[in-house]
Amino acid sequence: VPTPPKALLLDLDGTLLDGGYLDEAAIKTCDYIVAAHPGLDRDTVLAANAATFANYWPEIEDEWTLGRLTGAEVSLEVWRRTLRVCHVDDRALAESADEAFREYARAGHCLYPDAQEFLAAVHGRFPLAVITNGATDSQPEKLRCTGIESIFDAVIISGEQGIAKPDPRIFQLALDTLGVEPTEAWHIGDNLAADVAGAHAACVTAVWLNRTGRARRPEEAEPDVEIASLTELIEQLGLTEGLREP
Ligand SMILES: [Mg+2]
Repeated sequence: VPTPPKALLLDLDGTLLDGGYLDEAAIKTCDYIVAAHPGLDRDTVLAANAATFANYWPEIEDEWTLGRLTGAEVSLEVWRRTLRVCHVDDRALAESADEAFREYARAGHCLYPDAQEFLAAVHGRFPLAVITNGATDSQPEKLRCTGIESIFDAVIISGEQGIAKPDPRIFQLALDTLGVEPTEAWHIGDNLAADVAGAHAACVTAVWLNRTGRARRPEEAEPDVEIASLTELIEQLGLTEGLREP
């Protein structure tokens, strides 16, 4: 068992924030497009959107992560391309569909229930940092919409720093802001490459949140602690006493 932490570093997407709402936001946006363009049907637009995103994302992921493209720019381009795949050349519709999508997404941002419980348990007991890979507009918006921005003593966003997990320098930025040594911190995240390998490169104890119960391949980074939910970590940290309501 690793030394108990004096500070906690947390990933955002997939760890605290449940991204499931994005599918719902895409479906609603397809309905919006079909309402404006009755020659189309929802399934066609939805399939075009999924294929477009799957092709486009690998092209621009690094640029989005390192702050060279905003979330807004990426989103608009996805809807432009989606309509083009559907043989609709309508820039105004792409723009209004994108606005609708981002509005649906904003309304849908939500924390996992165990994340709410976890944050309530650790807030005020540990210095807290969030270290998240993402664009300069997307990540602050997620923190704002879920109302958790102010509970962190450090908010480290890759797009703002021009460096991303698993680069150990982004972990060091969080440690410096909290004023703790690497060996005094635990980092909790759902991604073995970005979070676990990154934390280890920075000499920080790595907790892998394996929500889906997937098997780790031998060549992947090995966490110091593996948990299936953040509730387990509340128990491991001995925080079950005196839990406050979120
Ligand atoms: Mg994540």
